[in-house]
Amino acid sequence: THHLNIIGGGMAGSEAAWQAANAGLRVTIHEMRPKVGTFAHRTGDLGEMVCSNSFRSDDHEQNAVGLLHWEMRAADGLIMQTAQKHRLPAGGALAVDRDPFAASVTAALKAHPNIDVVYDEITDLPRDGQWIIATGPLTSGALAEAIRTETGADSLAFFDAIAPIVYADTVNMDVAWRQSRYDKGETEDERTAYLNCPMTKDQYEAFIDALLAAEKTEFKDGETAAYFDGCLPIEVMAERGRETLRFGPMKPVGLTNAHDPETKAYAVVQLRRDNALGTLYNIVGFQTKMKYGAQKTVFAMISGLETAEFARLGGIHRNTFINSPVLLDHQMRLKSRPNIRFAGQITGVEGYVESAAMGLLAARLAVAQAHGIDLPPVPNTTAMGALVHHITGGADAKTFQPMNVNFGLFPPLEASGIKGGRRGRKDRYKAYTDRAKADWTAWLAQTETVPA
Ligand code: FAD
Repeated sequence: THHLNIIGGGMAGSEAAWQAANAGLRVTIHEMRPKVGTFAHRTGDLGEMVCSNSFRSDDHEQNAVGLLHWEMRAADGLIMQTAQKHRLPAGGALAVDRDPFAASVTAALKAHPNIDVVYDEITDLPRDGQWIIATGPLTSGALAEAIRTETGADSLAFFDAIAPIVYADTVNMDVAWRQSRYDKGETEDERTAYLNCPMTKDQYEAFIDALLAAEKTEFKDGETAAYFDGCLPIEVMAERGRETLRFGPMKPVGLTNAHDPETKAYAVVQLRRDNALGTLYNIVGFQTKMKYGAQKTVFAMISGLETAEFARLGGIHRNTFINSPVLLDHQMRLKSRPNIRFAGQITGVEGYVESAAMGLLAARLAVAQAHGIDLPPVPNTTAMGALVHHITGGADAKTFQPMNVNFGLFPPLEASGIKGGRRGRKDRYKAYTDRAKADWTAWLAQTETVPA
């Protein structure tokens, strides 16, 4: 029998172990807790939820994270199955009773005849055998250092600094225009040009006031933020002086408003394309610790973004993650050491569900490899595939920041020959999720032809 080692028994590692063990592999989980703790975990349980007790929306017709739930259920996922057992009433969200949830995950893994759990910290990159590293956002210092040595200092981050991301089709292009700074007027390349949102002096002053007044999230103990000057939160920049942003990310120089070339903007907010599909744009330099509600209010003050919808809001967190678009192949293997796969939050996905999903996928890929089966890539029309394509290729490596699952990562319906253009949002999301379910079911069937 083939053997798979998994480092980290969190969301990703627990799911990966379950998947691989059910497919007949011998699995060893190496978990450092309770011997070595983190600032966020409280117990020695596998699958501990470190903060909220929610797996977010369970709506698999209208919501991308709900679709990911559906896909994991279709693959007999442990995290979803256990969540269902310990579900609490929470409207459309999948919330759980966290302690019995983690206790159940732990019990199921320990009872599995193919799984051993070893409680030890791994401090080096393993040379032999098949491994999955799923050590999460709070990967221990020694292992992080070993990864850094292997990948290079620029390829492992200890904090994320996430600028808000909007759906491109919700930016008002009657106000915003497409242009790169100091562009000499040649035809703008759709793929590289920024979207620009102009502000008058009054709008700028009101925006700064709102920014200073907005409710912010404090860092947790042990999470002390060394703000690097390159990624200061915008509200911290505003605190340093009312003009700081106008000389920083909101500088208006080198840009001419295509809708009103005579009027010089007092400040300009720029949006940069965030994925190869061009469906997502991030607000350049706008990483922030404002609370989510406050972000929506404050960003709606930007002309052109009044009715913009966000694929994800901004944030800054302690988060260990690798530059997956550069380091991993499409099979989630470390290119420089193909015996090691990465899974979970450390690959640059964000959230419990996304982390567990990447654990599920990494294990299925490892199983296929162990049996010498060449699987076709997971279709990027599925939630699972959209995520893994994003982190292993779709995202821009230079500005790579963690991503949660959202419909902006999916190829447009037209790419599959489905009419999408004139439908309402609800109808379109339903079509996205229908397509995903069919494609995921077909892909899974191929992984399940693997002999046990
Ligand atoms: P984890 O679940 O953290 O699992 C990693 C495991 O690896 C841990 O058990 C750890 O002890 C172990 N480990 C680390 N290093 C080693 C080593 N060297 N050797 C052996 N074992 C090791 N997501 C949400 O969806 N909702 C939230 O509310 C939420 N809140 C968060 C709050 C905080 C403070 C943080 C840091 C993250 C939060 N996240 C949240 C993000 C993320 O989804 C979770 O952290 C999620 O648990 C990640 O899953 P994972 O399997 O990648 O990592």
